[in-house]
Amino acid sequence: SAKQAGRGFAMFEPELDRHSPRRLALAGGLRSAIGEGQIRLFYQPKADLRTGRIMGCEALARWDHPEFGIVGPSEFVPIAEQTGLITPLTSFVLDAAIQQVGEWQRAGLELSVAVNLSARSFLDTQLAVEIPRLLARHSVEARLLELEITESMLMTDPARAEATLTRLHQIGLTLSVDDFGTGYSSLANLKRLPVDVIKIDKSFVMEMAVDASDAAIVRSTIELAHNLGLRVVAEGVESEDAWRHLDALGCDLAQGYYLSRPLPAEAATRLIHERGAG
Ligand code: C2E
Ligand code: CA
Ligand code: CA
Ligand code: CA
Repeated sequence: SAKQAGRGFAMFEPELDRHSPRRLALAGGLRSAIGEGQIRLFYQPKADLRTGRIMGCEALARWDHPEFGIVGPSEFVPIAEQTGLITPLTSFVLDAAIQQVGEWQRAGLELSVAVNLSARSFLDTQLAVEIPRLLARHSVEARLLELEITESMLMTDPARAEATLTRLHQIGLTLSVDDFGTGYSSLANLKRLPVDVIKIDKSFVMEMAVDASDAAIVRSTIELAHNLGLRVVAEGVESEDAWRHLDALGCDLAQGYYLSRPLPAEAATRLIHERGAG
């Protein structure tokens, strides 16, 4: 689709042959790519809807592949999960993102960084050991690291998810539910879990202006989340119109192309200086 093409890399069809030459090449090269610095983090800022100040950035991984060019995470993260490389990939992403937030802090920019966890990484009990070590190594406070977990990851095994979230919350991390509205959970299910933030899925936000049911979902999610004491981020904010609408609805933060596409660290840092942080 046009939207996918606009992201700057070819769309990946997951139903394509798992033995396709491209997939085999990616699976075969991923381990050394992680070690050789071919995986790079881009940072997409999110801003306070009222002040426009940048409160945090989401780290989004890209593979700068010597043969295929930029490969997107929707293609290589599933390969990492299937080939047992998700643990080193997640460790790399956490280390790089935490290091970056430490650099921002030393430059006087107080903002958080959000890292996406895959299902496997989320359930990996080593995470609760590894994260404090990385935070200490880069002298970063736990509250500046946000972990994004999708709704479906919470609903597969709710009891285990609750125990995992509790452990991560005790470290002082900020926990977010990503792609909210796309799964089968409800805010009622979430209210007993120690989560701090709901990210409304971009599919609702992008169609809010043209689809009354999407607008209703956005409005009621904001209201219910606030009643539960959660902060709300709208993702996929692509226009000034959407920004204004969300501000009027009392949504807390906005992320999307209207503010900025995901940027390399240096460009993100310039934008944060321009707009102000925290
Ligand atoms: P996500 O967590 O839902 O991230 C948001 C995706 O939407 C990103 O795609 C971002 O570039 C895109 N996006 C942001 N603003 C807009 C907008 O205004 N309009 C539209 N149409 N799209 C927007 P990206 O970078 O291709 O990432 C895709 C997915 O890959 C992410 O979805 C996330 O689930 C996953 N991912 C990315 N990095 C990592 C990682 O380091 N580890 C893991 N496990 N997953 C990752
Ligand atoms: Ca995310
Ligand atoms: Ca999302
Ligand atoms: Ca719709």
